[in-house]
Amino acid sequence: MITKVILKSGKDKPVRNFHPWIFSGAVKEIIGTVAEGDVVEVFDNQNNYLATGHYQPGSILVKLFSFEQVEPSGNYWKQKMQEAIRLRSIIGLWKSEHTNIMRLIHAESDGFPGLIVDFYNGAAVMQFHSVGMYRIRQTLAEALIDVAGGLINTVYSKSKSTLPFKAPVDHNNEFLVGNELPTQVMEYQKLFTVNIEEGQKTGFYIDQRENRKLLEHYANGKTALNLFCYTGGFSVSCIKGGAASVQSVDSSKLAMALTQQNVALNFPTAHHIATECDVFDFLNNHTEKYDLIILDPPAFAKHQNVLKNALRGYRVLNQRAMERLNSGGILFTFSCSQVVSRDEFRTAVFGAATDSRKSIRILHQLTQPPDHPINIYHPESEYLKGLVVYAE
Ligand code: SAH
Repeated sequence: MITKVILKSGKDKPVRNFHPWIFSGAVKEIIGTVAEGDVVEVFDNQNNYLATGHYQPGSILVKLFSFEQVEPSGNYWKQKMQEAIRLRSIIGLWKSEHTNIMRLIHAESDGFPGLIVDFYNGAAVMQFHSVGMYRIRQTLAEALIDVAGGLINTVYSKSKSTLPFKAPVDHNNEFLVGNELPTQVMEYQKLFTVNIEEGQKTGFYIDQRENRKLLEHYANGKTALNLFCYTGGFSVSCIKGGAASVQSVDSSKLAMALTQQNVALNFPTAHHIATECDVFDFLNNHTEKYDLIILDPPAFAKHQNVLKNALRGYRVLNQRAMERLNSGGILFTFSCSQVVSRDEFRTAVFGAATDSRKSIRILHQLTQPPDHPINIYHPESEYLKGLVVYAE
């Protein structure tokens, strides 16, 4: 018998609107035994079936993957993966000639709460954020190989730091299928060295692809500064777009080494300076001005309770960057904090503009690319916000 999670009266509305999370405060009782990662069915107070998901002790008690009663067999997951690949074909990424790196499964947005799968030129990197998905990792890996039509030969789980296990379960990063991870990928014909095992996230910030492409249009002849550059994605775009010079700054040694490699790989004679340094120190110690600045910091707010500090952080950082813009300069500024809304981010940039006393206009409002789709029923899946602003 499958374990039943019964909701309190009046707490069924979000589920009826296909929101994929059940919060612990909405639950009246659990009928049956349950261990972390188990499949459970959710019912309203009148015993009407609502949805099926994975149980996870914590504030989000169930992550829902279906709103119809299902038997989540290997075939079930295979069909969902097929659908995820269909979308990546429709948006022109799957089997693309210019890009061989993309997000294949974007968690709740693809019906796989707790699972991210990124494609790196023949290898899939899985990152598990739920025990339920992790427990079926081998089934998922094999399903992916089946639907990929020969385009994936390796599946690697990189979840050591992302799994929310409450129980003391030993888990390591591991190959689920094959054993070959690529070291070079291509995005819009630009080449990037990646270190999947030791790099951040699954190895590369795939979500900035379209924003990096846009940057190319603004770079010609400019002096550019790429702050929080990671492995130099935006730096390579600046050079491709014809920048006169580019300076890249990040505090990570590995990231800076890869940035230098990536610039050299694409443009061996480019005028590029790599600075391994804390961005805040850099802004304190350098007064030079630039025509083009990219500001893509890590998420300042991981939780709602630090939101206020995070917004202040964005405001100060953006002000400092705006002060370094030459007249006619352009700033690409981002927030990847899920809890910071689009409006809140814009308000922080507004505050930065007033503090810097500059005439600032918004040229573009940026977001995540279509291989990181936003589930309309799950507003939390919209996390990347960006503004391109012009300083007179
Ligand atoms: N723009 C990048 C992704 C940036 S991720 C891209 O397109 O690939 C954020 C980066 O900020 C990480 O590389 C991290 O090492 C760096 N970082 C975090 N805190 C920092 C700090 N205080 N100073 C400098 N770099 C920092």
